[in-house]
Amino acid sequence: MVHCKKRGLMTRHFIYLIVSLAPLTSAWCGSKPNILFIFSDDHALRTISAYTQGKGINKTPSIDRIATEGAIFTRSYCTNSICQPSRASILTGKHSHKNGVLTNGSAWNSKQQIFPRLLKSAGYTTAMIGKWHMHPFPSNEFDYHKTLSGHGGQGRYFNPEFVNHQGNTVVEKGYSTDVITNESIEWMKKQSKDSPFLLMCQFKSPHTNVMPPVRNLKMYSDGDLPIPDSYHSNHSGRSSYLTKTWMKMNGMRAPHVLKTGPAKGTYSLSKKGKRKVAKKYETSLQYYGYMDPEDLDAYHAHYDPINAEYGRRLAAGEVSEKEKLERPYQLYVKDYLRCVAAVDQNVGRLLEYLDESGLAKNTIVVYASDQGFFLGENGWTDKRLMDDVTLSMPFVIRWPGVIAPGQRIDAMIQNIDYAPTFLEAAGLPIPSDIQGRSLLPFFKGKGPAQWRDSIYYHYYNSGDYNLPKIEGVRTSNHKLIRYYDHPRLKLGVHWELFDLNNDPNEQNSVFDSVEYAPVLRELQKELDSLRQSFEVK
Ligand code: CA
Repeated sequence: MVHCKKRGLMTRHFIYLIVSLAPLTSAWCGSKPNILFIFSDDHALRTISAYTQGKGINKTPSIDRIATEGAIFTRSYCTNSICQPSRASILTGKHSHKNGVLTNGSAWNSKQQIFPRLLKSAGYTTAMIGKWHMHPFPSNEFDYHKTLSGHGGQGRYFNPEFVNHQGNTVVEKGYSTDVITNESIEWMKKQSKDSPFLLMCQFKSPHTNVMPPVRNLKMYSDGDLPIPDSYHSNHSGRSSYLTKTWMKMNGMRAPHVLKTGPAKGTYSLSKKGKRKVAKKYETSLQYYGYMDPEDLDAYHAHYDPINAEYGRRLAAGEVSEKEKLERPYQLYVKDYLRCVAAVDQNVGRLLEYLDESGLAKNTIVVYASDQGFFLGENGWTDKRLMDDVTLSMPFVIRWPGVIAPGQRIDAMIQNIDYAPTFLEAAGLPIPSDIQGRSLLPFFKGKGPAQWRDSIYYHYYNSGDYNLPKIEGVRTSNHKLIRYYDHPRLKLGVHWELFDLNNDPNEQNSVFDSVEYAPVLRELQKELDSLRQSFEVK
């Protein structure tokens, strides 16, 4: 009986598939594609050369290769700009209020519908290797997982610790991004060529505390990086909530993040818990303690002279106030870029493996990251806000024979669209409770006849970084943001409205401008409509 029921279901799937995927090329038909989902943490668009098109501060040839051989989505957004909620939206295809992961720290309901389980039901073998970050760790979400652990699920850069599929904690020698790639390649090697796989390869990098591999330390060492125009902004055109946020980059001091000490020879790692070092350096020693001695020596050889020279110049009165404010930017962003370079190097290794193994032609490859990241824009670091810098997620995708190479797609997409895309690619129906939409119609080059005109955003980590909750709507040309519910500040509800054509860097809200009253009414109506359609509580 059970068998007959399954066959009935299969028949319905098959009919659905013929109807919905008929326009796709014959390369798709025949076998289900493998899916390699490469994911990183906090990767800002302005540090991916496929996005900056030669005008940026770094090069990412391997990520660019995915875009060149497939498609780049230029307006790709999250639903909630913070790590765990973004991951939950990807897995479920739903906004935070539907999947239950409203904040970092929300419990993950592991029993809910997720696309990897649906793929498994269609014959896929599934795995997640790397940063999961949600709580609890995976149970039966995947056929296999190896999950970064320690530091609240953030993991660490050197000799990372994992919880493996058997529930045991293991430490793997090496650099986090390299190790996750090694494990991913090893897992792919073990898979049968007769059935498709889904592999979610999820790096910790370039998340804070941005520790680069030794091989990349010399990159970006010649001179200073350009500073964003708005780095010294006083935020006069923005909500006063934002003048009070604890996201200022010029206020960064943590030595373990900026690598400002302690220097070699000024501390001992030998007596755990009794290390004689200034209190401000205690966390640095924790990270030093994870490193192999030769890597730690290389770190000292690189950072100690930089810190010593700055200390000398500071004592001699040679450092201007401006330089003092900009120094955290230079130190942080250089290490961030060195971490990004390691991500790109490893994306390259994964692509090479697909080529060598012959898997490339029938494997969908995606590179994405859980949200964007402020790298000095408005003087800020971190994410959370609905500004395009942090709302944006990189999303490049390659699928030989189905996606025509070299497409730049400007339609607004969101992380809730990934699940339905993968399901439809596997020939599965998209459950009606999934809130995103499949991107497959874009892959023919023309796009669907009708696509969304707006996206909905809602951030709920009230109080963190001294921010309130944030809700809003973005259309092609405008953005309306509502700030509300702060646990300490009694500022009430604030609104911002941006004209994204005249003010793409979102410096001056026109919420109070009479001229924009019609636009405001339109966006308020749109926000209400989105709340209704997504059933926001
Ligand atoms: Ca993140």
